[in-house]
Amino acid sequence: MKCTSCNMGTYEKKKVPYAFLGEHIGSFDARVCRHCGETLFESAASDAIEAEVKKRNLWGLRARTTISAVGNSLDVRIPKPLAEFLSMKKGKEVILEPLDKNRLQIVVE
Ligand SMILES: [Zn+2]
Repeated sequence: MKCTSCNMGTYEKKKVPYAFLGEHIGSFDARVCRHCGETLFESAASDAIEAEVKKRNLWGLRARTTISAVGNSLDVRIPKPLAEFLSMKKGKEVILEPLDKNRLQIVVE
């Protein structure tokens, strides 16, 4: 079977480490192209990855929230699972940094 990405290399079976949101999830069965390194996880491995990510409560951390107003400033509520993942607590100082016109990064130190 030729690589579906470069159409040159063939795949070899390997255990490949997988990280999600910066956490090492484990090493899983995959096919890796000898030419370009394209990595395809086996379907059983994809299921195992999803199960492990869910077990660690890392699944679905992306959330939609609504901006409210408090006095002259705006208030963005951070859902509990996200706050727990980031170890955010009331009173803790964070750094707000715009990445561009659509994105705001909150750095928890
Ligand atoms: Zn390839």
